[in-house]
Amino acid sequence: MPARFTGSFTQQEAIPADAITAAVAVLQSGRLHRYNLVGDEAGEVAQLEAEYRDWQGSEYCLALTSGGQALQIALRACGLHPGDAVLTNGFTLAPVPGAISAVGGTPVLVEINTGLRLDLDDLQAKITSSGARILLLSHMRGHLCEMDRLMRICDGAGVTVIEDCAHTMGARWNGTRSGNFGKIACFSTQTYKHLNSGEGGFLTTDDADLAAKATILSGSYMIYARHGAGPAAEAFAEARYQMPNCSARMDALRAAILRPQLARLDTNIERWNARYCAIEARLKQHPLVTTVPLPAEEDHVGSSIQFRLPDFTAAQCRALLDAAMTRGVELKWFGAPEPTGFTSAHPSWHYVTAQDLPRTDRILATLFDMRLPLSFSEADCALIAGLICDAADEVAT
Ligand SMILES: *Cc1c(COP(=O)(O)O)cnc(C)c1O
Repeated sequence: MPARFTGSFTQQEAIPADAITAAVAVLQSGRLHRYNLVGDEAGEVAQLEAEYRDWQGSEYCLALTSGGQALQIALRACGLHPGDAVLTNGFTLAPVPGAISAVGGTPVLVEINTGLRLDLDDLQAKITSSGARILLLSHMRGHLCEMDRLMRICDGAGVTVIEDCAHTMGARWNGTRSGNFGKIACFSTQTYKHLNSGEGGFLTTDDADLAAKATILSGSYMIYARHGAGPAAEAFAEARYQMPNCSARMDALRAAILRPQLARLDTNIERWNARYCAIEARLKQHPLVTTVPLPAEEDHVGSSIQFRLPDFTAAQCRALLDAAMTRGVELKWFGAPEPTGFTSAHPSWHYVTAQDLPRTDRILATLFDMRLPLSFSEADCALIAGLICDAADEVAT
């Protein structure tokens, strides 16, 4: 019997005690709706919005029911019309093409490079060939593309950038936080992301008009003056009549448990990175394993790790999943023909017109992925990395 890891890859840390106390207070008040406020009480949601705005360094912040809703609202606020082409990464997760399709857009998939980042030459070509006016840029698995060059390309072509920061809350490129490059950024506070409210999300922007449109789209019932990090009343003059209510407000209970977590986020980013380094250092020593290079410009948040076995066949990749599982290590493989457990690749998105992405497919064919919950210790991470190496050796021989 090989050595085994016995921890759980889906077990998060407990919600901190002060967050639980805050949640109980909300429950005792009975006022869970964000606009169910007494007198000049700010409410948990408005306070969270102000705190997240300050932490992110944006002008405005809107709290929402999910990251996916934030993406849909961002696309609508940016003026997407049904049938419009929207550029996005060929390698991302289902909420991204899902959001584009949900608002009637047509996803145009852009190739990625071996760094799992957007291929900017292919982006340039597809801006021209598709005529798309919006790029929904997914910072997939925390890997930021060359943001300065990306913004030059998009600004030069009049393409609006929406950043999907579901995996990069807290990451930076050349010192600028992810989310502060494009017109709008979307974040998720779903359990597997960097803050945990079960479901939830944020939208941030520096643009008062977009912030007003997004607020009305979120379903503000014209109570936008009570938002903690929204634009001044003038910004709503037209939006209040033009934007449909899509009912995607965050509630006070989730906000109450997020505020104490936000206060710990910087510490937790360091904890994720220590775990990432422990795994990466060991994987890098294995001759068959290729880790993803982290550029010097990037401050990465290592809440998950990706690696490839570029010489493995599909049969060997499948065998690696099994050999790792025998050792208690739950890997995801993006080359699998069928979508399973949070992992789907573009050929499985049948609601999107099939697109040829030969470079992306070649990368995904041998790409593995693993979440790093903070419930793992650094010693757990070293053990896991060793077990992955053992599993790769077993399959290779
Ligand atoms: C999780 C995720 C989102 C947002 O997801 P929700 O579950 O709707 O909060 C968006 N993009 C990516 C890449 C994600 O992984």
